[in-house]
Amino acid sequence: METIREWFFGLGAKYGVNPLIFGAIYVGAIPLFTLSIGWLIRNMRAKKPLALPLLSGATCFVSAYVYLIVVGRHVPAWVYVVLAAVVVGGIVSTARRVSRGVAAGGEPEFDVVVIGGGAAGLTAAGIVASLGAKTLLVEGEKLGGDCTWTGCIPSKTLLKAAKVAHERRHASRYGLADADPPIDSHALMTHVREVRRGVYEHADAPPIFEAMGIDVRAGRARFVDPHTIAITRASGAEERVRARFFIVATGGRPQPVKIAGIEEVSYLTSESIFELEELPKRLIVLGGGPIGCEIAQALSRLEVETTLVQRGRHLLPKDDPELSGMLLRQLEAEGVDVVVEAEAKRVAKDGDAIRITLAAKGAERTIVADALLVAIGRRPNVEGLDLEKAGVSFEEKGIVVDDRCRTSARHVFACGDVTGRYQLTHMSEHMAKVAATNIMLKLPSRIDTRHVPWCTFTDPELAHVGTSEADLRSSGATFDVYRFPYAKIDRAVTDGSARGVLKVFAKRGSGKILGATILGESAGDLICELAVAMRNGVTLRRLADTIHPYPTLGLGVRRLADQWYVGKRSRRFVRVLQFLFGFRGPTREFTRGEIV
Ligand SMILES: Cc1cc2nc3c(=O)[nH]c(=O)nc-3n(C[C@H](O)[C@H](O)[C@H](O)COP(=O)(O)OP(=O)(O)OC[C@H]3O[C@@H](n4cnc5c(N)ncnc54)[C@H](O)[C@@H]3O)c2cc1C
Repeated sequence: METIREWFFGLGAKYGVNPLIFGAIYVGAIPLFTLSIGWLIRNMRAKKPLALPLLSGATCFVSAYVYLIVVGRHVPAWVYVVLAAVVVGGIVSTARRVSRGVAAGGEPEFDVVVIGGGAAGLTAAGIVASLGAKTLLVEGEKLGGDCTWTGCIPSKTLLKAAKVAHERRHASRYGLADADPPIDSHALMTHVREVRRGVYEHADAPPIFEAMGIDVRAGRARFVDPHTIAITRASGAEERVRARFFIVATGGRPQPVKIAGIEEVSYLTSESIFELEELPKRLIVLGGGPIGCEIAQALSRLEVETTLVQRGRHLLPKDDPELSGMLLRQLEAEGVDVVVEAEAKRVAKDGDAIRITLAAKGAERTIVADALLVAIGRRPNVEGLDLEKAGVSFEEKGIVVDDRCRTSARHVFACGDVTGRYQLTHMSEHMAKVAATNIMLKLPSRIDTRHVPWCTFTDPELAHVGTSEADLRSSGATFDVYRFPYAKIDRAVTDGSARGVLKVFAKRGSGKILGATILGESAGDLICELAVAMRNGVTLRRLADTIHPYPTLGLGVRRLADQWYVGKRSRRFVRVLQFLFGFRGPTREFTRGEIV
């Protein structure tokens, strides 16, 4: 310790200056000097310019001696030499950058250009602009993207209308008279589009983003070179814009279907169904994922005779098969004709209708309907972007990004559906935050791949977060499955929505939550509590100890968590209590699933 002290104070004493100030600058510069060396090595490996790290290292190296110049004492001659080299190096490097910029079309006008104004692009543009970037947002159609115009908003509006109609038909469940509401599909679809316009005007319209200092331009963007894009307006006019960084957030569109005869018929997708003026009388929905299930239930409740065709064994294959099986039975009970393990073989016109032939479980089946909705997946919007001109790699699934949303070109980031990683609005927003943080703060922010929640908004809803039961089993994890039925949640009973179950997978012993899945009323809202708990290491014990208001559906989460305590309350433990404190009641073994 004494030696270090002596060394520290000796540094400045040698030059006759305040040893504390000299020593502090000298020692303080060491980590910065080390970082500069690291930067230099990285640039050497990546074959990038070395001027900046060299200048940074040299500046750190002489920083303590600059103090000698300031106080005018005993400045060694070599310090002047290094400083002169730093100044000359700085001038040369700046001149080179400027001349390179001029040669390539001048200094970029923008710090960040965001291509695509959907959930990902709007979020990214808002964050980078709020952190001081000169930002341009380019949108080819209308701000808001898929979620506002062809996705979440119109589908949830339709589902709500369908639920109201269904509830009225079954009002006797609440002691009221059942009624059969006439469905005016023209008025209904007008309502869907009005809600959509309202969301656009309140949350997505250009003036909202312009007020944040973002330059919003209409047109389709494509890369011309790594730092330049061309924007083609609807009129055909083209302008070129340069930027230091780009965020590609161009989303995706419905995957076209390949079935014999498909070119003879016109079919609906999520892009066209919400534009209908009238609903069809009979509908075939191809695809049992979230979009297919939601629209099949909504339209069936709106008096459309609906067949839902799924290639695999389960609907919603990413979800818990037990719970998706319960949902399938619910859809069937409501009158949706659900055909699983079925492959569409042929499609043809049948007068004004469409005839589709399925191979289902070894037999052929033909269904005739007035419309066909194809919801078999989505593909990324990468065509026309000329990504190769910016050095950005992509594959069939989308633009390849790492967990920091970086593409193969260091100054180009991508987020949302165009990456094909998740196809969810909240994940588009999350990825946009990650990309913006990496660009603006240079912090290694990463996608949180372990706590991704999602929900299918059928009635009942099916929601999930974290690792699935199947993945936990195949990984050999030691965990317990906790279950709590909606039928035991008082609020669900009073509300007439006692169908469903909560399932939580938690580490044996500690009760650390590894994953959760819920089928039931407001499952999408309930999963939020479990997502927060998981993300922050809140165990089942802590959830059980958290006061939840009565009577809420959320109380079901607490009561599920109470089972962690039940599991700890063995007969032996109770006997020890009796022995210690003289209690005299009967003892019995509790099962963990026992409801207390
Ligand atoms: C029926 C349906 C229901 C859905 N429901 C839900 C739900 O309940 N919850 C949920 O989380 N997710 C839901 N989704 C998914 C969700 O809509 C998407 O994940 C999300 O909107 C993707 O956002 P994004 O910003 O990545 O892409 P998008 O919203 O598709 O935005 C991309 C934008 O880029 C523009 N663009 C494309 N190319 C160019 C170009 N070259 N130049 C300029 N602009 C360009 C497009 O015009 C578009 O506006 C649903 C989707 C559908 C279809």
